[in-house]
Amino acid sequence: MLDPFMHVLLVEDDLVLADGISRILRGHGMVVDVVTNGADADHALASREISVTVLDIGLPGIDGFEVVRRLRARGSNTPVLLLTARDDVQDRVRGLETGADDYLVKPFAAPELVARLKALVRRSNPRQAGLQINGLQLDPFSRRATADGQVIELSAREWAVLEYLMQNVSRVVSKQQIIDAILPWGEEVTLNAVEVYVSRVRVKTASAGIAIKTIRGFGYMLEPIFT
Ligand code: CA
Repeated sequence: MLDPFMHVLLVEDDLVLADGISRILRGHGMVVDVVTNGADADHALASREISVTVLDIGLPGIDGFEVVRRLRARGSNTPVLLLTARDDVQDRVRGLETGADDYLVKPFAAPELVARLKALVRRSNPRQAGLQINGLQLDPFSRRATADGQVIELSAREWAVLEYLMQNVSRVVSKQQIIDAILPWGEEVTLNAVEVYVSRVRVKTASAGIAIKTIRGFGYMLEPIFT
């Protein structure tokens, strides 16, 4: 298994939803602790090793915003994904400003929740063993890349480009950032060369359930495709 071990704290007072989410996450090999109110969430976050938290905003007692505020006030970097009941911009902005890392609006698709949690853990723990996004896997120790279970051959630079895009999944990265990331020793690489590497990587990963989008005049963004 290439994904890092994940211990998820799920904070949700809707017991049916909590049960459904925890089944899905356990089905992906994650360890899930469920609590149903803000005080228990606060206590769990202060006392347990948690990889990532799925936190409902609307909770009895202490609400989700306050749980995040207390978590960050303790100096913790534990990633937090907020669940919001409605697509409310003010809730999202407030949540992100309070220190949450991401959010999902209910109802959401299970694969999207799983992908976002993995991305959050990956960002918080960049030196972990491997990368996986949908059907695309990179194992840095064996230098093996697979798309939809098939091994794909990547040059060293194609590998570095893909690894950087995967580490920044769902984020726009500039061509210059890619150059800086793949050539720490300062060898000359042109912006045109980056375009060539990206287009080759895009072809080789076409079956992996990901898209490498071109952000015109700027750079690229790798995203999982949800079907
Ligand atoms: Ca709720």
